[in-house]
Amino acid sequence: MDIGRRDLLLAAASLAVASVAGGARAAGDRKIGYAIVGLGYYGLNVILPQFVNCQHSRVTALVSGDPAKARATAARYGVPERSIYSYETFDQIRDNPDVDVVYVILPNSMHAEYTIRAAKAGKHVMCEKPMATSVAECEAMIAACKAAGRKLMIGYRCHFEATNLEAMRLARSGAAGRVRYVRSEHGFVQRDPSKWRLKKAMAGGGSLMDMGVYSLQAARYMTGEEPVSVMARESTDRGDPRFAEVEDMIEWLLKFPSGAIASCLSTYSANQNHVLLMGDKGRIELEPATRYDGNRLWTGKDGRAEEISPPPGPAKTQFAGQLDHLADCIQADRSPIVSGEEGLRDMRIIEAIYGSAREGRTVKL
Ligand code: NAD
Repeated sequence: MDIGRRDLLLAAASLAVASVAGGARAAGDRKIGYAIVGLGYYGLNVILPQFVNCQHSRVTALVSGDPAKARATAARYGVPERSIYSYETFDQIRDNPDVDVVYVILPNSMHAEYTIRAAKAGKHVMCEKPMATSVAECEAMIAACKAAGRKLMIGYRCHFEATNLEAMRLARSGAAGRVRYVRSEHGFVQRDPSKWRLKKAMAGGGSLMDMGVYSLQAARYMTGEEPVSVMARESTDRGDPRFAEVEDMIEWLLKFPSGAIASCLSTYSANQNHVLLMGDKGRIELEPATRYDGNRLWTGKDGRAEEISPPPGPAKTQFAGQLDHLADCIQADRSPIVSGEEGLRDMRIIEAIYGSAREGRTVKL
């Protein structure tokens, strides 16, 4: 993707969020109904509480393997009992007119299956990151949504987060001059060896599939370019029971057509959340960069740094912005700014990163 297209995306993002902020929608339009699939940490504690901050989205159904948890959650969020599904009865969601979107918040290996089943049930799909565990799965998800005439969006929340939006705007406006280098590191200390995130079959990989997606996304949205090659190196203690199946630490170097490079890291053995852009006139830095809240932004020049307060987010929170963006796209029949194709682009690079680390050579993209 060229810089022009990234700029268009950025402009579209601003417009999208501006229309959310301004409530620029015909009065009387009904809110878009979401079915939440997976009542785990992110679905239950992060996404469900966010519907109160939405203008155009509401939760109308739940899908869970735990009936008691589903009933308690339904009661809390005003979801009727008839709109509670199990994984076995999921396909009956096709007959529920209150559900417009299925939001897949399951372990990574289940993203493709539930996205495709949702599309076949005639529903639009929001799918969590990473989009899936392989390029082939991503392609099948895109094809299923296309065949059903339904939208597919990836839960890349940073595209709706005020600090990241301001950092992208500053980078594009030349605040740091010509972009030469981006550094992006994301990780946390993964302590629980029983987690599905450490099982290759469920997660598709280790820290790269989980936190590395943020480093990769930041490298692409801060440069506004698509990489042409990647060189990667992995460091994992295979004697550590946590890392019997998946990688701990992986770093990779992306080269961009302009000559800029990005040095990225993901890890399950250090807490890190940082993005730095260097240009020929200055720098732009975020730390923490991509958290749920409390992200901070600086610009710097000649050894001096200034903290920037981004303009208030167009939506109340990044999560509400993300949910309402898909609602807007459905109402206005537009493509989401973080579509399935965007998730597929990342997955192609992720496969190249793994290939490069395995074979110890630069891989052309
Ligand atoms: P989690 O383990 O807390 O929840 C997973 C849910 O899936 C649970 O409710 C579990 O019961 C259910 N599930 C159904 N079948 C399962 C099976 N066979 N094995 C294991 N669980 C099964 O995970 P999470 O942290 O909520 O992550 C879910 C997804 O959301 C992942 O894809 C993750 O990458 C993504 N996520 C995104 C963000 C973000 O900021 N965008 C943050 C956290 C997680």
